[in-house]
Amino acid sequence: MDTRLIADLVVCAFILFFGSSIGSFLNVVVYRLPNDLSVVFPSSFCPACQTPLRAYDNIPVLGYLLLRGKCRNCREPISFRYPAVEAATAIAALSSVLWLGITVEAGALFIFFVLLLPASLIDFDYQILPNKITYPGIVVGFGLSFVRSDITWIDSGIGILVGAGVLMAIRILGQAIFKKEAMGLGDVKLLALLGAFLGWEASLLSIFFGSILGTLYSIPILIKEGRGGERGGHMIPFGPFLAGGGLISAVMMKTIWWYYLPFAWS
Ligand SMILES: [Zn+2]
Repeated sequence: MDTRLIADLVVCAFILFFGSSIGSFLNVVVYRLPNDLSVVFPSSFCPACQTPLRAYDNIPVLGYLLLRGKCRNCREPISFRYPAVEAATAIAALSSVLWLGITVEAGALFIFFVLLLPASLIDFDYQILPNKITYPGIVVGFGLSFVRSDITWIDSGIGILVGAGVLMAIRILGQAIFKKEAMGLGDVKLLALLGAFLGWEASLLSIFFGSILGTLYSIPILIKEGRGGERGGHMIPFGPFLAGGGLISAVMMKTIWWYYLPFAWS
């Protein structure tokens, strides 16, 4: 093998390790943030028996595989979500770099993913989008727009205002027409975050894709739980789908056919 190939493989391995370590931290965020626990202290422990994890059991993905998905102490199964989040974050890091190179834009795409993944999982579990993720995310997205070449700070600023404004309008209309909360304030903040990273055009596109994803997810549940009837208190949050729509829009923004969309002619 030539040295260039070996160097590339070493860089890829490092990025995968870096990404999976971030994913490991995201697991901690998802588990502790909604319960108001510190994300820094103590170190990771088994959710079932509270035994602290040994350093080598805590290695992203590999630790789970070596333990065959069970706690070393109490043998309780460990949720498959932990290694899945670690692997997904590693893949997001590597694909950002393979696609966009070692650039500010690749970093911004990865940070976007790192904000959306825990926010989505927490919303899925608890039906809340934590301000501790959305507010800093809006600030970081706006800050990054000053150093990115694919968006200006004006685009980002308008994205924040439009994102928040549109959903606020939907929310007020929903309340006026249906007399109940159609959309949470968390979704408004999440759309502002999308606007900060993507600009207003792509943030509106995120609502469109998010609605499609949400519908695809809801149809089997609605069929299973009976037509038109009660959903048994089964609450489907919009946040994870809006975030998914945001990721689709972010990827689209960097592809050539983006420029054929009616609003992107300028
Ligand atoms: Zn245990």
